Amino acid sequence: MTSQRIDLSDRVALVTGASRGIGRAIALALGQAGADVALNCRSRAAQAEELAAALRAMGRRAIVIVADVSVRSAVEEMMVRVARELGPLEILINNAGVASPRGLEDLDEAEFDRAIAVNLKAAFLCTQAALPTLRAQRRGRVVNISSAAARGPGVVGVHYNAAKAGLEGLTRGYAARLAGEGVTVNAIAPGPIATDMAGPLLNTEAFRRIPVGRLGTPEEVAQAVLMVLGNAFITGQTIGVNGGVRLD
Ligand code: NAP
Repeated sequence: MTSQRIDLSDRVALVTGASRGIGRAIALALGQAGADVALNCRSRAAQAEELAAALRAMGRRAIVIVADVSVRSAVEEMMVRVARELGPLEILINNAGVASPRGLEDLDEAEFDRAIAVNLKAAFLCTQAALPTLRAQRRGRVVNISSAAARGPGVVGVHYNAAKAGLEGLTRGYAARLAGEGVTVNAIAPGPIATDMAGPLLNTEAFRRIPVGRLGTPEEVAQAVLMVLGNAFITGQTIGVNGGVRLD
């Protein structure tokens, strides 16, 4: 069996929601593979700065950009900074997300809109803003962090189901239109992963019934991201990383 480590030396990546959890693990894995990394977060700049320092200690260039990725002007300014401070973007990881649990009765319009804005519209805004650069490189990569809740019931609520299902539609739509230009677009759909987001859900029945018998780790999700980054023939796919929660 041959094993190959993916080499991302001198490639520029942007990870949204990189201050903690899954985004942090993806950013570290990108740095370990040689990429220079822009770290976005909404407010926890100090945590993102610590990660940037760790990446610089590995010899990578790393910058922190605090920006709400659901706001178009903020996304456009973020992309300008990435280009100016790191160079042409080739790898976009749309990871930022929110998951506020709501039942059928207590889900209101404001929370529904927020779930769609951060989990779905933000990926469109970031991809749209990055597209000219990704297309020009002819080896661009977009990875959207979805969820097992895109196709299963999940434990957050219908707002989250809808947003993540939409994100997978966005993934396939872009993939189909960009395949001939060397740009791949894929989704990774984690099941329950040990991060802050999973905290309020830990005592639910669904979490207790994970077939593998434990939560996944952010590093296991990052490993799947690196796998699709290294493969130019995988596009338009959703890869599950879910401990057997879903078998499709
Ligand atoms: P997390 O620990 O709650 O971290 C969320 C990250 O997103 C933070 O870096 C946060 O920044 C950032 N963020 C949130 N809203 C943002 C906004 N409007 N603009 C910019 N950044 C924003 O979450 P996680 O568990 O790592 O989740 C990462 C992704 O995986 C999400 O898309 C989530 O839906 C998905 N996912 C998670 C699980 C799970 O079980 N954990 C399962 C399936 C899918 P601040 O730190 O500054 O707030």
